Amino acid sequence: MKYYSTNKQAPVADLQEAVVKGLASDKGLFMPESIKPLPKEFFDQIETMSFQEISYRVADAFFGEDIPAETLKKIVYDTLSFDVPLVNVTEEIYSLELFHGPTLAFKDVGGRFMARLLGYFIKKQGQKDVNVLVATSGDTGSAVANGFLGVEGIHVYVLYPKGKVSEIQEKQFTTLGQNITAIEVDGTFDDCQALVKSAFMDKELNAHLSLTSANSINVARFLPQSFYYFYAYAQLKKLGKADNVVVCVPSGNFGNITAGLFGKRMGLPISRFIASNNKNDIFYQYLKTGKYTPQPSVATIANAMDVGDPSNFARVLDLYGGSHEAIVKEVSGATYTDEQISETVQWVYNKTHYLLDPHGACGYRALSENLKPGETGVFLETAHPAKFLETVEKIIGEKVDIPAKLQAFMHGEKKTVPMEKDFASFKQYLMNV
Ligand SMILES: *Cc1c(COP(=O)(O)O)cnc(C)c1O
Repeated sequence: MKYYSTNKQAPVADLQEAVVKGLASDKGLFMPESIKPLPKEFFDQIETMSFQEISYRVADAFFGEDIPAETLKKIVYDTLSFDVPLVNVTEEIYSLELFHGPTLAFKDVGGRFMARLLGYFIKKQGQKDVNVLVATSGDTGSAVANGFLGVEGIHVYVLYPKGKVSEIQEKQFTTLGQNITAIEVDGTFDDCQALVKSAFMDKELNAHLSLTSANSINVARFLPQSFYYFYAYAQLKKLGKADNVVVCVPSGNFGNITAGLFGKRMGLPISRFIASNNKNDIFYQYLKTGKYTPQPSVATIANAMDVGDPSNFARVLDLYGGSHEAIVKEVSGATYTDEQISETVQWVYNKTHYLLDPHGACGYRALSENLKPGETGVFLETAHPAKFLETVEKIIGEKVDIPAKLQAFMHGEKKTVPMEKDFASFKQYLMNV
């Protein structure tokens, strides 16, 4: 499979190049040249297949031309060593719990898949060692670091804003050691992101080191997220609820929902999508007006969605041939304030005892306000509520149990490299590693 750039100014790349580079040379995002529909017999029996079996069929459509079948199967099966259960919350609304991976975040799947794919290119295809740079406001760093831990030939640098991530989040990427280095930047998340961007653009640095990104701009991180949508459909079909499915995705950089839109293009029978935003409602405004106007991000209690210029918007636009009209036919939007998010967490908890995290709450609420008679709604519950402990405990006025997986990280010793926010210091550090 070849990958073209959404900016159409760069030569097409093969999978290895697209994964190793992350971003095309014209700063566009890579898109697969074709999206292969899956056959009717697959959808006819999807409810009899396991998460791993379904995902392998989906992965094969994207990567089967480029990766030997046995290798790809192993990558998929190793990545998905946990379940993604569908839980009924109220009436016709279901939660697809994406938080049963090692760091309790949906980004675990993309992180683990990308690490294994890149590991394969390094070991088998003579790819020289790769350095992964990732800027994080909390969640991405832990999923990527844990996904790449111990993979030979890859070193990961996690840049995070000093004092601005929760202790649990910080422990998940500062205590790992081995091939993971945590860089504690004296600045904000935007400063971290700016350092990473400058590093990718610096000629001298790139001649010295092979650098790539593990944010959802990378095809190896974002495409595997399509597995979730097929598995959600399979579980609904088993329940006899698959006739008119609406999927709602709490969205920030729009990687997750874009993977779902790819799934629909492959023939997955989802009627429509809802992209739910917090106050960072750039996409919502785009749907309303047809104009895309990036804004500085504002801080909210659903902070993994605090994005003012969603990087995968370019992919959404490209997928629909740039047509606003085509997009609004399949995707609608929602936007919620912190008060509305809190209210939703509390209301659902009081009514059903199901505890939403602030991101999932945006998903639930949009379905509860938009679902029509005869439709079944699924929202993606993107993180375990214990990852947003203080916020959630304050809302419900009760203690929240911290899962053992999360607690285990608390015992490790934090090790970081302190860094100023100017690029010269960061560059000098990378030139000398
Ligand atoms: C990353 C993240 C999101 C947003 O996902 P995108 O793919 O960036 O749209 C939503 N919720 C949580 C908990 C996340 O970590």
